[in-house]
Amino acid sequence: MSTTKNKWQKPTLTAHRMGALNKFGNTSPQQHLEAFAGVALLPLMEQYGSPLFVISEQRLRDNVRRLLRAFETRYSDVVYSWSYKTNYLAAVCNTLHQEGAWAEVVSAFEYEKARSNGVPGNKILFNGPHKERAILERVVRDGARIHIDHLDELYLLESVARDLGQQVDVTMRLNFDTGYTEPWTRFGFNIESGQAMDAARVLGHSEVLNLRGLHSHLGTFVLDPRAYAAQINIMCAFMTQVEMDTGCEIESIDIGGGFASMNTLHGTYLPPEQVVPSVDQYAEVICSTLNAAVRHRSAQGKSKPRLIMESGRGVVDDAEVLLTSVVANKRLPDGRPSLVIDAGVNVMFTGFWYNHKVTPLQPQEGMAEDTVVYGPLCMNIDVMRASVMLPPMNVGDAMMFSPVGAYNNTQWMQFIEYRPHVLWVDTEKRISVVREAENLAIVTGPERVPAHLQEPFREQQEG
Ligand SMILES: *Cc1c(COP(=O)(O)O)cnc(C)c1O
Repeated sequence: MSTTKNKWQKPTLTAHRMGALNKFGNTSPQQHLEAFAGVALLPLMEQYGSPLFVISEQRLRDNVRRLLRAFETRYSDVVYSWSYKTNYLAAVCNTLHQEGAWAEVVSAFEYEKARSNGVPGNKILFNGPHKERAILERVVRDGARIHIDHLDELYLLESVARDLGQQVDVTMRLNFDTGYTEPWTRFGFNIESGQAMDAARVLGHSEVLNLRGLHSHLGTFVLDPRAYAAQINIMCAFMTQVEMDTGCEIESIDIGGGFASMNTLHGTYLPPEQVVPSVDQYAEVICSTLNAAVRHRSAQGKSKPRLIMESGRGVVDDAEVLLTSVVANKRLPDGRPSLVIDAGVNVMFTGFWYNHKVTPLQPQEGMAEDTVVYGPLCMNIDVMRASVMLPPMNVGDAMMFSPVGAYNNTQWMQFIEYRPHVLWVDTEKRISVVREAENLAIVTGPERVPAHLQEPFREQQEG
C-alpha cells in the first residue's frame, strides 16, 4: 500500500458564456449535420455499417464542370486529365471520363486500369519514373502519350520504338525552381542545370522519338496561384529555346496538378475558406500568363500549344466523406477528453497531413472541449485528430470526417481492420456500393499455405 496520498488541489470554475471565445476558440454548440449529397446519413450507417465512405456524384460532376468552365472560357485549347492515383475507384474515374477527362497514370497498374475502364490509348498520359519494356511496348502500340522521366527511360523507349518500327510522339517531364514551392527535383529533367536541354537535343537527334510536349508538376496543395505563372513562363521560355535548337514543334504544355482542396494542412490555423484559392483564381493566373507567353507564336506561323492540366485533389476531395462511430470515451491523464472511433489512419491515410473537419451527425449538448480523436488500431500513431473542439460524445454517436475524396481510397491499407464499403450517391440520389467492404475471404484470397503448415495444431508424432 502506498503511504503518500494525492495532494488536494483547489477546484477551479470557469464561467462559460455561450458563443464567446475562450482559449480554444469558439464555444458555441457544435453544428451537426444530418445529410450529405441530399441523403440522410444515419440510415445509411444502419444499413451499411460503420465506418463508411460516401461519394457524391453530383458534387464530383459540379467540381469538374466548374474547373473546365474556368479554363475553357480563358484559353482556346484545354485538356483535363484525371490523376488516377488521387482516387482510382472506377465509378470516380468513369464519372470524370464522361465529363471529358482523359486519364493521367503513373504505373503499369494504373495504365491497365484506365484501359479496362474503357479509356482509349490516345487519351492516356503516362507519367512516373517506373515504366518497364513490356508496358512501354503496349503503350506505344496503343498510341498513348509517354512523359519521359529520365535518360534511361528515353533510351529504353527508343529501343522499343525501333523494335516496333514506330514513330513515337513524346513529352518531357521538367523540373525547375519557381521560387514559390520546394522544387521536386527527383522527377523529370532539370532545366537550370542544363540537363533538360541536353535531353531535348538527344530527342532532337532521335530517328524514332519526336518531342511534342512539355510537362511539369510543381507539387501538391499549391496555395499561391503565382507559382503557376512562374511555372508557365519558365516552361514557355524553355519551349522557345528547344524549338530553336532542335527544330521540333511543341504541341502541348502540361502544368500537372497541385491545386489545393478545401482541407487544412497540419500547422495551418486559418480555415480553408480563407486560404484556398478558387478554381477561377487559378485559371485566371494560368490562362492569362499562357496567353501572353504564346501570343507571338502565330506571327511565326506556329500554333498555340494545347494546355493540359491534371488537377487531382482539387476535383475529388470534397466529393467524399467518411462516416464513423464512437467506440469509447476516456479521459487522458493530462485531463483532456479523448475518443476512440472505428475509423483510423488505416482508411484515412491523409490524417497524417490534414486536420479534417469533424462534424457530429446527431445534435450534441454540452461544452465543447479540446479533444483527441483516436482510431481503432493498436498503434500509437493512429490519431485522427490530435486536437479538435468537440462536445462530449457518447458511445455509438456518429460523426463525419471531410473532405476525404483525395488519396484515401488509394493510399488506405488493409492493416489490422477490414476496409469498409464505399457508397455512391448518384445524381438521382440513388445509393449503390462502388467498393465492397473486405472480409476474411477477400483479405486471405491471395495467400497460399504450404501443405505442412496447413494444420497448426496437428498432434505431435511420438518418436
Ligand atoms: C499526383 C499528380 C497529380 C495530381 O496532383 P494533385 O495535387 O492531387 O492535384 C497530377 N499530375 C502528376 C504528374 C501527379 O503525380
